Amino acid sequence: MPQETLANLLTEDRTFPPAPEFTASANVTEAAYDEAAADRLAFWEQQARRLDWTKDWDSVLDWSNPPFAKWFTGGELNVAANCLDRHVDAGLGERVAIHFEGESGDGRAVTYAELLDEVKRAANTLTDLGVEAGDRVVIYMPMIPEAAVAMLACARIGAPHSVVFGGFSVEALASRIDDAGAKLVITADGGFRRGKPNALKPTVDAAAERCPGIEKVLVVRRTEQDVDWNERDLWWHETVGTASNEHAAQPFDAEHPLFILYTSGTTGKPKGILHTSGGYLTQTSYTHHAVFDLKPESDVYWCTADIGWVTGHSYIVYGPLSNGATQVMYEGTPDTPHKGRFWEIIDKYQVTSLYTAPTLIRTFMKWGDDIPAGYDLSSLRLLGSVGEPINPEAWIWYREHVGKGKAPIVDTWWQTETGAIMVSPLPGVTATKPGSAQRPLPGITVDVVDDEAKSVPNGGGGFLTIRDPWPSMLRTIWGDDQRFLDTYWSKFDGMYFAGDGAKRDDDGDLWLLGRVDDVMLVSGHNISTTEVESALVSHDSVAEAAVVGASDPVTGQGIVAFTILRGDIESSPEHLQELRQHVANTLGPIAKPRQIMVVAELPKTRSGKIMRRLLRDIAENREIGDVTTLADNTVMTRIKEGLSAAA
Ligand code: ATP
Ligand code: MG
Repeated sequence: MPQETLANLLTEDRTFPPAPEFTASANVTEAAYDEAAADRLAFWEQQARRLDWTKDWDSVLDWSNPPFAKWFTGGELNVAANCLDRHVDAGLGERVAIHFEGESGDGRAVTYAELLDEVKRAANTLTDLGVEAGDRVVIYMPMIPEAAVAMLACARIGAPHSVVFGGFSVEALASRIDDAGAKLVITADGGFRRGKPNALKPTVDAAAERCPGIEKVLVVRRTEQDVDWNERDLWWHETVGTASNEHAAQPFDAEHPLFILYTSGTTGKPKGILHTSGGYLTQTSYTHHAVFDLKPESDVYWCTADIGWVTGHSYIVYGPLSNGATQVMYEGTPDTPHKGRFWEIIDKYQVTSLYTAPTLIRTFMKWGDDIPAGYDLSSLRLLGSVGEPINPEAWIWYREHVGKGKAPIVDTWWQTETGAIMVSPLPGVTATKPGSAQRPLPGITVDVVDDEAKSVPNGGGGFLTIRDPWPSMLRTIWGDDQRFLDTYWSKFDGMYFAGDGAKRDDDGDLWLLGRVDDVMLVSGHNISTTEVESALVSHDSVAEAAVVGASDPVTGQGIVAFTILRGDIESSPEHLQELRQHVANTLGPIAKPRQIMVVAELPKTRSGKIMRRLLRDIAENREIGDVTTLADNTVMTRIKEGLSAAA
């Protein structure tokens, strides 16, 4: 964003205060903001006490060598013991930790005692295979309980894991194995996806051929497909299945590496983000308690993310398990065998808290209101959103058709790099606004600044930054301190640069406006992709939209929109004209798209984020860039073919 700050075009003034009953029993109240503001480090110290430490820390934060932070220095804990042993020791062993739902409807309930047993056996197996504290283990798995077991077993023995999305290509897997320098891969024969077994092992075989550092491959049997067998391979059920279930967890330093996770790759080459133990677990545990208002004795929580992205790490594994939550884990896709699959699962397990992504909410909108209406969703008492800005209309749809107008929605902004939620309403405190992530959580200092690093006033827009270090912050980019400094700490002095645009409304609430790299510069005005997309989605006929700035001889950049229509709506030149006018009416003539194209699908990462840079390549008639992190790398060809057929 050169010259000026981000234009502020969208006005959205609906607000939804929390129900008094919700507030009355909420885990966290307004007072938390005041406590944290009075003494931020004391506040985090108090949250760290949520965990069991085998040795107390000497200082809460060592910021003597910024931006390389150390939290809870000198403290020692075992992350896995905090997620499992302490609950079993407290007599909660019979509580269900994971209700596993296979895609085809097979499933099982795994209690905390059973999960602990399996993690101890897996920890013994890893040690037998020569994995030591500090060694890296790559996990390439479907969404099955063994994925969580594998992560916790690594944590238990201090071996940082690096989970790679099951479904990434040989290329993507091999480059991550190499970059992490892993010696062992944990995988499965396959998982079930769209009603069919989807093989994973052949990808690992091919990647291992390219990565001589890989000594062993541990294979869970899930689909019972035929697999090639190599010298380095071991079956999980023959090793973990027969290992001893006695294992004493060793304490590790608070700053011991817990995992490396590659970012989604929405904007470019993925970055290997390093997270450590004590601060990470403190903030994931606290935020899960505060933002989801978790009542571990009665809630059934369900996060629909894949374990292969940070939401799966922080809000399926570490946050919920450290809090003793009961949760649902689902293996498959939302439309197999039918489009009501999610609602059926909520009904079946009486899910109370659902955490999902805008991409899915927009998909459900497209499929039609009658589908969720066919199920009992009355158990839901809280809804969450993560991954992209949520368009106000999608938010309203989520509230009405899923939350039945009563469940508060928490729109949570954070990143792989931040490790845990940073900006979000608190469900018992905040009067929510559709499309706004609203307020930094207690203990977090977020700002919106202009080019000169000055805070923008209310009503203004600019760059989202984080002013003070936070417990679950990334410690570096694995093996590349310089890239860590360049990417996050060089744009503004002494502030973390998140790469997202944001505005502050008249109440001081935050609205995320998309990637700074995607901001469009039209006739000297910086226009956010999110605002134009939200304006399009607010038209009855549009389910989903992605906009990009394509170079334009007159205006600098012209707005080109790609839209997916709802249900069976057919487009026409008049309809497209109406959509362009609708945007102009909503946001002003400056934001009127130069061109709107109707497409059947949009390019997305595996975590469901729109990859606008690829659409920009189409809009500017260029060769299409790096597609290795796309969920489906044939989609670009189909979009191009569809557009030329329509032209
Ligand atoms: P890469 O960094 O490789 O381009 P990525 O940024 O998509 O990939 P993630 O760490 O998975 O990788 O995603 C974090 C980003 O997702 C944020 O920077 C932001 O752009 C977006 N995001 C996440 N949650 C929200 C939210 N609630 N509102 C708006 N944007 C969000
Ligand atoms: Mg990013």
